[in-house]
Amino acid sequence: MSTITDSLLEALHIEPNTVLYERSIDAAAGTACAIVRRAGEKLLAVTGEKISAFSGETSGKLKFCPLTVENARALHELLPYTRPRSHAGHKFTMGLGDRLGLATPGHIRAIAGYDVYPVFAQQSIRELTLTNRTFSEVIAAATFAVLQEGYKGGYGADGDHLKTEEEIGYAIASGCTMITLDCSEHIDIQAAAYTQAEVDAAYAVLPEEVRGHYEATYLDRELPIIGSLSLSELKRIVLVFWKAILHAERCYQYIDAIKTADVDFEMSIDETRTITSPAEHYIVASELFAHGVHPVSLAPHFSGEFEKGIEYSGNLNDFARDFVAHQEIAEHFGYKLSVHSGSDKFSVFSTVGRVTGCHVHVKTAGTNWLEAMRVVAKHDPALYRRAHKFALAHRAEAEKYYHVSTNPDEIPNIDLQNDAYLPEYLQLPASRQTIHIAYGLLLNEKWFRDAFFPFMAAHEEEYYAGLVSHIGRHLMYLTAERRNA
Ligand code: ZN
Repeated sequence: MSTITDSLLEALHIEPNTVLYERSIDAAAGTACAIVRRAGEKLLAVTGEKISAFSGETSGKLKFCPLTVENARALHELLPYTRPRSHAGHKFTMGLGDRLGLATPGHIRAIAGYDVYPVFAQQSIRELTLTNRTFSEVIAAATFAVLQEGYKGGYGADGDHLKTEEEIGYAIASGCTMITLDCSEHIDIQAAAYTQAEVDAAYAVLPEEVRGHYEATYLDRELPIIGSLSLSELKRIVLVFWKAILHAERCYQYIDAIKTADVDFEMSIDETRTITSPAEHYIVASELFAHGVHPVSLAPHFSGEFEKGIEYSGNLNDFARDFVAHQEIAEHFGYKLSVHSGSDKFSVFSTVGRVTGCHVHVKTAGTNWLEAMRVVAKHDPALYRRAHKFALAHRAEAEKYYHVSTNPDEIPNIDLQNDAYLPEYLQLPASRQTIHIAYGLLLNEKWFRDAFFPFMAAHEEEYYAGLVSHIGRHLMYLTAERRNA
């Protein structure tokens, strides 16, 4: 161990009420640092030559620094592995969004032993708004988690489901290394449901060069994977997607113009009500490539219901048939499929892992919040009961942000349950979704925050263990094929 590390440890040793996270100790440029918990608060302890780059409270040779955005940026300079980076070139990548800023150490432990490149910082604007956080704060939380666990394998930061150039600019300026463009506002879902006469009428008034281009490129020929298209099929696809394709081109050029490091571009067309057919997927991809847009991943809307926090519902045979075609298209163009709302979709993961050979991006989101609430249910039943009743009373409000299908009236009365049953009670699908979508509303309640965050600090090891088992189940099914090969 270097002398500067020794002097950090010696100085920490004599500090009262200070507990060291052993794995976090690291040193560079004559400077040593570590994550500590001091009088209940998690802090960065620093000593050595670069101490002035960090801001905090000085105590002897040490500085105790709050886990702020500024201190995260200083840490990026000192220890470059703590900074998010592009995941280009990695076959298997996984988005592990952390809405609470508490889950990433558990995610780091969950991926240990798997050949997966994680995207630990992954939030949508909706999530940021509901939790009152910024992209910079999300990246800072991942930065300190990486240091806490001594994880040096690299990670990405995904500005998830961004819709405008303004949002993209904000994400990139904050340090995001991946942009997921959500084109849903430019996809004409009305056209998807038109009668043929309506399609013909709407198509006829499109600019002539648009019609000419699509017809010359896609009619009267065998296209790879999807075969030939009829004029009526093509017309509908053009009506639904042509504006989204233009929007993606504009946003991609914008990213190119403003980026200062590699950015992984994901095209998402999953947040529409209609299922993406292989023909639609092919045309969208072909147009993107023809216009110089090279996504790292693309998220079609797969068949079946990918609702938050519960198992897949739908026909698994239909899912598998379409998924194979989508995978062939992705391989043809040279990007990977992206599966969103992947949390708890265990029944689809074995197919996803097998068909893609684990060359895929999977996004989980939000179930780390449910794992946190499971720890609450187990050890603080009074807090859990209050949170449950609050979530139930505000379910209609929470449904404005998230589409869920379970019926809250089916949840048995919590007053008639005993404390020991509460962790299982949370697992009932209707109960799970009710808590799941209420995270923003709960986290905005002072009574909840004041009880929840100190509780989680006192139970973090148990929380991490829960995440290892929960995320581990996802990884096991996704990678099983590759481990056998
Ligand atoms: Zn999505």
